[in-house]
Amino acid sequence: MKIEHQQHAVHNKHVGHSPQMFLKKFRISLILTIPVIFYSDILKTFFDFKAPVFFGSQYIPLVFGSIVFLYGGWVFLAGAWREIKGRLPGMMTLISIAIFAAYFWSIYAAFAGVEALFWELTTLITIMLFGHWLEMRAISSAQGALKELSKLLPDIAEVIHNGGTKIIPLSELRENDTVLVKSGAKIPADGKVIDGESDVNESMITGESRPVFKKEGDSVIAGTINGDGALKIRIANIGEKTFLAGIMRLVTEAQASKSRFQMLSDRAAFYLTIIAVVGGLITLVAWFAAGADIGFAVARLVAVLVVACPHALGLAVPLVASISTTKAAQNGFLIKQRLALESARTVDVVLFDKTGTLTKGEFGVVEIWNINGHTQDETLQLAASLDAFSQHPIAKAVVNKAKERGLSLKEPKKFETLKGKGVKAVIDDKEVMVGGPALLENVGIAIPAEISKQVENAGEKGQTVIFTLKDRVLLGAIALTDIVREESRDALKTLKELGIKSAMITGDSEDVAKWVSKELGIDEYFARVLPHQKSEKVKELQKRNLKVAMVGDGINDAPALTQADLGIAIGAGTNVAIESAGIILVRNNPMDIVKIIKLSQMTYSKMIQNLFWATGYNVVALPLAAGILASKGILLQPALAALFMSFSTVIVAINAMLLKNKTL
Ligand code: ADP
Ligand code: MG
Repeated sequence: MKIEHQQHAVHNKHVGHSPQMFLKKFRISLILTIPVIFYSDILKTFFDFKAPVFFGSQYIPLVFGSIVFLYGGWVFLAGAWREIKGRLPGMMTLISIAIFAAYFWSIYAAFAGVEALFWELTTLITIMLFGHWLEMRAISSAQGALKELSKLLPDIAEVIHNGGTKIIPLSELRENDTVLVKSGAKIPADGKVIDGESDVNESMITGESRPVFKKEGDSVIAGTINGDGALKIRIANIGEKTFLAGIMRLVTEAQASKSRFQMLSDRAAFYLTIIAVVGGLITLVAWFAAGADIGFAVARLVAVLVVACPHALGLAVPLVASISTTKAAQNGFLIKQRLALESARTVDVVLFDKTGTLTKGEFGVVEIWNINGHTQDETLQLAASLDAFSQHPIAKAVVNKAKERGLSLKEPKKFETLKGKGVKAVIDDKEVMVGGPALLENVGIAIPAEISKQVENAGEKGQTVIFTLKDRVLLGAIALTDIVREESRDALKTLKELGIKSAMITGDSEDVAKWVSKELGIDEYFARVLPHQKSEKVKELQKRNLKVAMVGDGINDAPALTQADLGIAIGAGTNVAIESAGIILVRNNPMDIVKIIKLSQMTYSKMIQNLFWATGYNVVALPLAAGILASKGILLQPALAALFMSFSTVIVAINAMLLKNKTL
């Protein structure tokens, strides 16, 4: 339904028409217009040219003009009929009134022996057809990118069944099937690698041009292309549930979601139509009253109607919007709300979540300290036993380290996540807790003197320290490092160049936050922030009259993402359904934030330019068309008006298309 709405916005004028149809009608009308021009007085007036006269030659403009009116003008008449039936008179109605008036006046004139408007009529229709052809071509190529996405899927899949393989149509593929993806083949559905290794090209989905190495256990995305190795994949999601389907849904939804600009230009188009009809009638009556002849008055009416056509206006915004959302998708960020993209250009400060956003979120254990005679293995074993049940990137590192040391894990009971602090469970009837400084504070334990120096030093080097407690007694501490993304450095540098402030928010300790901010040149940081306090920090920034873009992983950052003026969820992975964000990044690349802001700025200036080109011309040309300067010999002929009108449409279309080639 929503999708149809969008189509309506752009296409309602040409339901069921193709660019080819317009091209054909244009060509034929053009040929038929030539004799009309030859046998009307325009050439005589300007070039003193006289076409050969033969029996009935005076009827040539009438005959050919009628054919052009019916054959070429039909699309416009039918369009007007649809608009009137839908009670939404628009440009088709205007064009139709114009050609109707010109045609019926000319028929009368032809028989009455006064000056007819056939050459004006035929050139007008021909130029309109040309304009519409250009317009439709522009629209279909703007929407082509979405079609490109759907072409990414293969038609067939090779399933492994009873030891052999069988080729089946994609539609017969089911979840939990095992498929073989040979080298160079497209991956048919989302799934997990169960055997084999290969580099997979995911650029079409993520915008990341480097191939991604996949091995057993890794997830793969439908529509991406396998490199040199062969992969056996267990299918997890098919059809509508795939990541690709999610992207396409988002793109169409975003294209359908009307932006402020869109609403503005729709309203402007409506008023322009009304102004045109009223203005046209006033012009007609005024020239009558001034004693001009009817042919002249009708020609002015036609010119006014043509000039006022909100043709370019109807295109100015939708074209830009549809190009920008597809451009965004191709660059690996998905616009969920058009308004989100529009507001990106006005952002004053970008607030980044630290772990997993600015840093890779891939921790490694660097040191383990023990207290009170407990061993390193004890600390690590208990921590890993709990962390085996946690999703946190820190947890993964702890578990890996325990495995590396060959420690067996214990079975925790009553496992619980203490958001932003750590984890808690019962092991061997003892309460075990693992977590950061916030946890210690919560329990009311200070860092003992034995290790306080080390903990401090680690923090100053940007290392995260977590603690293991058994029955509220500290056993030891584990220091971990995370790697700062190279892209973060570039992103923060570019933000600075754009004059945008940066801030960082983290649940980690003050020392770590300080180190990372210094490392990256971040203006401001908030440390030891619990997940539910993150949105408070956003509000704090907003109270300082700053427009805030928040970048987070969208899971524990959801309230902050919603609170921010622009919520950007990073690392959507295979989960597109992140509700709280306006924009979702497919990759975990902070550089994409800069791209979003740039795209937003580009989109904005294109829309403004287009609105200018689309309406500026009408404003200047309307009085000329009405014949205000007729006494000074300046008159805008209907065909010239049509030419200008098409010209402004073409400018608008080309200007929008230029956005396609801009690099972000
Ligand atoms: P961030 O805001 O940087 O993403 P979180 O709010 O996720 O951080 O976590 C804050 C702190 O809580 C971590 O720095 C760590 O000290 C502690 N923590 C959270 N989860 C765990 C866990 N599973 N194991 C150990 N410590 C944890
Ligand atoms: Mg986090």
